Amino acid sequence: MFIQSQYEPVKIPEVDLWDFIFENERRQFLGEKPIYISAQTKRHYTWSETKAAALNFGATLHRLWDWKKGDVLGLFSPNCIDSPAILFGTLWSGGTISAANPAYTVDELAFQLKDSRAKALVTQLAYLDVATKAAQRAGIPKDRIILIGDDLDKTDQFKHFSLCNNMRFEATQCQKPTIDPKRDLALLAYSSGTTGRPKAVMLSHEKLVANLLQVQATDEGNLKPTGGDDDHGDKILATVPYFHVYGFCFLILTPAYRGLTTVVMSKYDQKGFLEAVQSFRPTYAALVPPIILQLAKSPLVDAYDISSLKMVMCGAAPLTRELIEELYQRHKLPVRQVYGLSETSPVALVQRWHNCRDKPGSVGSLLPNMTAKFCDEEGVEIAPGQTGELYLKGPNVFLGYLNNRTGTSACLDESGWFRTGDIGHVDQGGNFFITDRAKELIKYNGFQVAPAELEGILLDHANIMDAAVVGIYSKEHVSELPRAYVVLAHGVGKTQNEAQEIGLWLEKRVAPHKRLRGGVCFVDEIPRNPSGKILRRLIRARLNENGRSS
Ligand code: AMP
Repeated sequence: MFIQSQYEPVKIPEVDLWDFIFENERRQFLGEKPIYISAQTKRHYTWSETKAAALNFGATLHRLWDWKKGDVLGLFSPNCIDSPAILFGTLWSGGTISAANPAYTVDELAFQLKDSRAKALVTQLAYLDVATKAAQRAGIPKDRIILIGDDLDKTDQFKHFSLCNNMRFEATQCQKPTIDPKRDLALLAYSSGTTGRPKAVMLSHEKLVANLLQVQATDEGNLKPTGGDDDHGDKILATVPYFHVYGFCFLILTPAYRGLTTVVMSKYDQKGFLEAVQSFRPTYAALVPPIILQLAKSPLVDAYDISSLKMVMCGAAPLTRELIEELYQRHKLPVRQVYGLSETSPVALVQRWHNCRDKPGSVGSLLPNMTAKFCDEEGVEIAPGQTGELYLKGPNVFLGYLNNRTGTSACLDESGWFRTGDIGHVDQGGNFFITDRAKELIKYNGFQVAPAELEGILLDHANIMDAAVVGIYSKEHVSELPRAYVVLAHGVGKTQNEAQEIGLWLEKRVAPHKRLRGGVCFVDEIPRNPSGKILRRLIRARLNENGRSS
């Protein structure tokens, strides 16, 4: 018996994101409403300025680089108030966005640019070194790298986005192409899915429009833009990175669609966060579990006034009921949990506003237009209430992985059921609980770490014969930490030094969130099935038997 959403279905119009957001006749806020304010510099874009800058950028893409529908723009930048206009301009011009973590190494960025076939790259001055090297490897010429942010290139080698704003947009010369919302891709989000290396998740305009409307329907009248005066409407503190689908949808698309002011932090740090709450007085913030931990426990919080916050959203990784309670007891601040995946554009479950205090630990109930079921290991449906793997269906479920039919068919069947790789159950009130993960994925502070990717790199180490990477949960960090189990080459000593050396060696090759914070353990053999697949469950079971320390 499938589990149906308890919300009335919403109507999803056949419209692309640009028209949905910027040609919306039912807009209920003024164009002068500030939408993206920099927490650092206070520079801001109103809704109308975002639209104008996006049109200029879209036209620039056409003029300078013969931009065609389906061309991909890479973004390699921390959160920056110029990014939304860049991204909306790309969508206007029929392009697709592929945003990468600004902490990536040259190898990691080059992989994503090549894999997504990016035609141009947007970055900031401080990131040019990695950006230019990766762009070169991906065949993106230097003149197709464009800068955003407050720093200009004094050598004049790279164009700055602000110059596009000075070029007058002439609608007659460049027209918005006809976009097919069902097929044309707006975003390529990267996820390792249930197995293997990161893959490009294809999200069409329709999927993202659907998710904006599905989430909005669960708001029960909360989150108000109220006119053009930003002091009266709701204000969101934006800490989650734009390059993650959670940030892209909740902090770029939603504010422009609904006229919500966002205060944009380029990067999270605790002091900066608390200062921004105190001075900008946001009413909501989109957070991840480690930030909830700091809010609940850190003494520094007492030195700031955070009373403007009415509620915080938390998603992207598991959050314990104890921590939610601790935060509430200390600050009377409720947490509204949200669950989703890159593959569900991204939200699938969200707690109800009015009862999120009643069900702490639940990741919410199904969005409108969605159906769920739980299955056993063989993929056979089990009765609601029993624990099993969560499968989802709905208009926000992705189209598949780019150029990867095998990866797609492993988790998406022809009738539209998507296998999430997450284990959990639902109670009689329709509240879902996620209790474990069947898939390989590790999440460190909400960021994806694909074990297969780290294992591939570790096998290049001269002293390593075989390797498996699994996540171990750390209560202290409220996060999983990647740990490597390693079979050393013959004659290499299993010493503390060797373990440290391997950790440091990997550190130089990957973004900081992929570091082996869970340690390096030596084993005589990696358990594998006859076809060579690593038996991660067995490793995890042994881990539980032996306790958590290495
Ligand atoms: P991503 O595609 O990076 O958004 O990662 C999706 C994965 O993050 C899911 O499959 C879950 O394993 C995990 N996840 C997301 N939200 C939650 C949540 N609220 N609680 C537990 N795990 C979550």
